[in-house]
Amino acid sequence: LTSKLPHVGTTIFTKMTTLANAHQALNLSQGFPDFETDPRLVKLVTKAMEKGNNQYAPMIGAQALRDAIVKKYDQIYNVEVDATEQLTITSGGTQAIFTAIATVVKPEDEVIIFEPAYDCYAPTVELFGGKVVPVRLLAPDFRIDWDYVATLMNSKTRLIIINNPNNPTGKVLGKEELIKLGALLEGTSILLLSDEVYEHIVFDWASSQSVLEIPTLRERSFVVASFGKLLHTTGWKIGYCVAPPQLTHEFRKVHQFNVFSVNAPMQFAIAEYLEDISYIRELSSFFEGKRNLLRDGLKGSRFTILPCEGTYFLNINYSGISNEEEFEFACSLTTQHKIATIPLSAFYKEVTNQQVLRVCFAKKDETLANAIAILNQI
Ligand code: GLN
Repeated sequence: LTSKLPHVGTTIFTKMTTLANAHQALNLSQGFPDFETDPRLVKLVTKAMEKGNNQYAPMIGAQALRDAIVKKYDQIYNVEVDATEQLTITSGGTQAIFTAIATVVKPEDEVIIFEPAYDCYAPTVELFGGKVVPVRLLAPDFRIDWDYVATLMNSKTRLIIINNPNNPTGKVLGKEELIKLGALLEGTSILLLSDEVYEHIVFDWASSQSVLEIPTLRERSFVVASFGKLLHTTGWKIGYCVAPPQLTHEFRKVHQFNVFSVNAPMQFAIAEYLEDISYIRELSSFFEGKRNLLRDGLKGSRFTILPCEGTYFLNINYSGISNEEEFEFACSLTTQHKIATIPLSAFYKEVTNQQVLRVCFAKKDETLANAIAILNQI
């Protein structure tokens, strides 16, 4: 068999989690909470099952959940989303991203991505014959030069992918940056995939940003979101995609033959849980407390801490400790010091060694205290 993805191996998240488990290390690599989901939400799943919501959900998603999402966009962003024409429930953010790319990318199309980039973008583009055009951003500020991006745009450019707030950098593109992107794309036929799965985890009084608020972007965008990040339920694999009617129509042609529909009881449970959206408004301060705990706890360590404006990842630089390459250093931290992280180089196509590790702080305070104790001794 000729591999369709010859350069792709097992994801770094699986690799590091497997290594962490094998060495009984504290796992701050793969991004998932180690604390419990709200028992009330769990009970709502049981309730939905007992009520008989155990057969196929509608292909586009349960009406109640789509209505809850529409309400969220109205109340948080003051934007209107049509539950029937513009919104599809997916099996997590990753399936939404995969389906959006499958929907629009044809062989020879170019897709601009910003590195460090979340790991699924490039292989999915390549699977559909697209050519990845990476824009390399470097630590510590990971600034985007939009004039440079403009020089990469041509008649073959089909799609730009952004991730805001950004995994792994923790950087947030504010409204001004999004407006610049809007100006860049105006008058072109380039589409945008905006991965907003960490939209409700933003710090220091920043507010959530969605490209849906910018008309020139909205008319060309697939916006992807995830309930795993919102509700501490990464194992439920439920997310959604918002797009203009024409794009949604095409998106659903692929979606219906990929998963057809997403597990029903959890959709009903989430819909009921989100009747009170104050939960969403409190999420940022919940994670900001954890960011501060980790950041402040490492102030006396030999690591240098990079800025973190959103997401639940903090990046730390170890150039004061070792010259080792990132993956090797991350592995030795796991096996010798019993703490697993993600090497930043995993998110770049070409080899980089910025001596930076990504640390997940979606963890109990006691886990973070243990992590701080270990990292302070290195
Ligand atoms: N989104 C998670 C992270 O960044 C990983 C998800 C996965 O394991 N594929 O760590």
